[in-house]
Amino acid sequence: MSKGEFDIIKRYFQRPTNQSDGVVIGIGDDCAILTIPEGHQLAVTTDSLVSGVHFFEDVDAYRLGYKSLAVNLSDLAAMGATAKWVSLAITLPSIDEVWLAEFCRGFFDLADKYNVQLIGGDTTKGPLSITVSAKGLVKTGQALTRQQAQVGDLICVSGCLGDGALGLAIKLLASGSVVSKNEDFAVLNKQAFIDALELTEPRLTLAKLLVGYASSCIDISDGLSQDLSHILEKSRCSAEVYLQDLPLSDAMLSEIKLGRIPQFQAWQYAVNGGDDYELLFTISPEKLVLLKELLKTQANEANLACFEIGKIITASSVSSTVCLEKKTHPLITFLHQQQPVDLDSSGWDHFK
Ligand code: ADP
Ligand code: MG
Repeated sequence: MSKGEFDIIKRYFQRPTNQSDGVVIGIGDDCAILTIPEGHQLAVTTDSLVSGVHFFEDVDAYRLGYKSLAVNLSDLAAMGATAKWVSLAITLPSIDEVWLAEFCRGFFDLADKYNVQLIGGDTTKGPLSITVSAKGLVKTGQALTRQQAQVGDLICVSGCLGDGALGLAIKLLASGSVVSKNEDFAVLNKQAFIDALELTEPRLTLAKLLVGYASSCIDISDGLSQDLSHILEKSRCSAEVYLQDLPLSDAMLSEIKLGRIPQFQAWQYAVNGGDDYELLFTISPEKLVLLKELLKTQANEANLACFEIGKIITASSVSSTVCLEKKTHPLITFLHQQQPVDLDSSGWDHFK
């Protein structure tokens, strides 16, 4: 590594080590040394963001720094873990100090909000890409997994769905990589959706409260259908989702009201689009009552919402009629006012 790169690490990434947070050795040696408190297990996750694949090449550096940490913290939240430490491997095409300062400002704004320490990483030269590995703590045996959903459990989400997918559609359109069929796209009130895509809030505060209440949990990165299917497959059950109960943001509702986004399209974004990073969890009706009481006592906490959107209905096998229909997500039935709605075959196609 060149002297320039050591300077970069010192100047941008190395901050005073907070030893009280379990960091015996942080940035500056060959490894970080961490102390795991007794009675806890380590939750570890890694996500890479590659230029041109996971983000647009001209993305704002602040937002890229923020989001590369946010998607990792969201994975810790999905396990009910408390976020503690993070490492950052960054590959840069060149040393652009203004860009680096903004990237770090976004990264550390979010890290500081949740008391997460950067404990190491790697800095290399090449096409822009970022790999973050986040580490958190769960009480031994208490992690929320994908495999314990039970028949009769309710399905809940932690916030509005569909905005991230619409934000991505707007960005794709603006970049010229696609052309829209929908003329009204041009007049959409775009910023709220782009913000939802680029400044997602990891649901770490809610996640801690779900431990002991939720039976299973996942974060929605690839879309409700896809991620709920993961829970259903692992838990060997199937589900009903009620479209009229899907939480949509004020921004989305206002576009629907103005006739610029058809209601059905909004459901498509909410169900099949990704990038919402809300938590999706299952919980027994009795525990949901208790959880709601608990959430009420946290009135001064922002970012604590819980919307019921469906129910776990049967254990295991998919009926043969459903298989014949070749549904993409055969374990989920979408209903609107008790009537089945086919969100699969009508496609996910707002572009020419
Ligand atoms: P080594 O060659 O022993 O792997 P490096 O020279 O790559 O170590 O890095 C020196 C120190 O700086 C290490 O402690 C490493 O974890 C840390 N580091 C390097 N790049 C980053 C980064 N982007 N963010 C945080 N820490 C980093
Ligand atoms: Mg070394």
